[in-house]
Amino acid sequence: MMEHIDVNFCVRCGNVLEMIVRFGAERPVCTKCDYTHFFDPKVAAAMWLTQNNKLLLVRRAIEPAKGCWTIPGGFVDAWEDPAETAARECAEETGLKVIVAKLLDLVPSQNQSSGAGFVIFYRGEIISGDMQAGDDADAVDWFSIDQLPKIAFYATQTMINRWKKGQLF
Ligand SMILES: [Zn+2]
Repeated sequence: MMEHIDVNFCVRCGNVLEMIVRFGAERPVCTKCDYTHFFDPKVAAAMWLTQNNKLLLVRRAIEPAKGCWTIPGGFVDAWEDPAETAARECAEETGLKVIVAKLLDLVPSQNQSSGAGFVIFYRGEIISGDMQAGDDADAVDWFSIDQLPKIAFYATQTMINRWKKGQLF
């Protein structure tokens, strides 16, 4: 089983959970009300924007990976369309209003215990707005393929590697 944050108490009845094999794996189970806890992957959505062969990146103002750069994005809320998440996060972090043009790929993360289990990448097109960092980003800029800064996340690096090889679109 992958490492994860411990879940000790039943979210339904508050009873102490026990690790019991259920549905093919050891999971926290409540022996009082029969609740089974599943460690579901967290899903993030991100917006891939290029212009004149440069990629839009934001610098992270918070941990994890504070000071490193990634493409605009964030966690998908349970009730949210991932494409809307990507557009919303992009607006918050870059000041740019963007529409989703295409679903690029779904990329698993290396370390699921902290951060996203996988990231859904969209290609976007800028509609309006003035570029200005906000929310959990403190800088935003365009970068050419041979002058990229330190990249924050494995999934983003995976996409950048494909971009470098001309395998993205
Ligand atoms: Zn319970």
